Amino acid sequence: MIYLDNAATSWPKPERVYAAADRVLREESGNPGRSGHALSLAAGRRIEETRLCLARLFGAARPERIVFTLNTTDALNLAIKGILRPGDHVITGSMEHNSVARPLEALRARGVEYTKIPLCAVNGADPDAVKAAIRKNTRLAVFGHVSNVSGTVNPVAEIGAICRERGIPLLVDAAQSAGSAPIDVERMNIDLLAFPGHKGLLGPQGTGGLYITEGLVLSPLREGGTGSRSEELVQPEGLPGRYESGTQNTAGIAALGEGARFIMEEGVEKTEGREARLASRLIGGLRDIPGITLYGPPEGPRRKGVVSITLAGIDPAQASLILDNAFGIAVRAGLHCAPDGHRTLGTLDRGGTLRISVGFFNTDEDIDRCVEAIGAIAP
Ligand code: PMP
Repeated sequence: MIYLDNAATSWPKPERVYAAADRVLREESGNPGRSGHALSLAAGRRIEETRLCLARLFGAARPERIVFTLNTTDALNLAIKGILRPGDHVITGSMEHNSVARPLEALRARGVEYTKIPLCAVNGADPDAVKAAIRKNTRLAVFGHVSNVSGTVNPVAEIGAICRERGIPLLVDAAQSAGSAPIDVERMNIDLLAFPGHKGLLGPQGTGGLYITEGLVLSPLREGGTGSRSEELVQPEGLPGRYESGTQNTAGIAALGEGARFIMEEGVEKTEGREARLASRLIGGLRDIPGITLYGPPEGPRRKGVVSITLAGIDPAQASLILDNAFGIAVRAGLHCAPDGHRTLGTLDRGGTLRISVGFFNTDEDIDRCVEAIGAIAP
């Protein structure tokens, strides 16, 4: 099978990721941060090692400012609902995933207003448009780093600089960039970074996290046992416990740590370069096929390895089924949980797009076989 659905979740994983989950489940599966015995201490150590590794990867000075979540969606919900209150205003883009758009819409019913900046599918958000949308009551800006529909890169550092000037926290959805593109929260003026463990960081599903800048206090999504200040009825203020109630996914987080270490040892820049080369090869091959429309930026620095196309006369879902059944190629068809992205591209009423997304383990041969297969099914 040729797996080209890495934007949904990455597969396969490095061998050490599988090994870490197995080892922790067998040998280090006490409840982390709770008891004083060896199994509990070992589990706690694994979690803190992963936290440290992610802090290094994202340029966070203090590891405890990274809290573990179930996935990107959980991290985005924690950030958005942890900050916004009735009467607040938030600025976002017109290509966001439902993990951003739906929490904002849910909060709208509770008196939070939002402005969606129209995004360009090639250049992403215009920082001047963000500046113009700022109001007195703007409490947050939320933008995806890379679109999961078109691979478009948003200028988050520039948006962050504008937000910093006005004291507005910037939340970045790094679902399509963590592990696949360099991210430095300090240099890029990011106050909150929501990231998945199961995509570019090559960890297991059920893992993700949120970086929270120093001094920013969110209300937690859930309260409960943290293994600290247990005599008090109120949720502790200290991080990471404040946002990590209940027993953690120790095996998953340990395996995520191995995925992150793998990426760091390879080098994020190298990973980014590999994926860019594969995306260019893919786009170059697809461009020659008659009846294909390619969306988003051309090859180059303005895009990442998520490539969306439509084929004249074939529904994307049907094309994906044929690719799977007849060619053993796994891609994704439809709206990719981002209807706003399709509104921007003009593909909402046409069944969305066929999305081909490259990952760390794809090869030139995978790309060539995919191009060949699409050429064979194109009308
Ligand atoms: N945002 C974007 C841009 C995404 O691509 C995705 C995953 N499709 C998400 C958020 C949600 O990620 P997760 O599945 O980790 O919650």
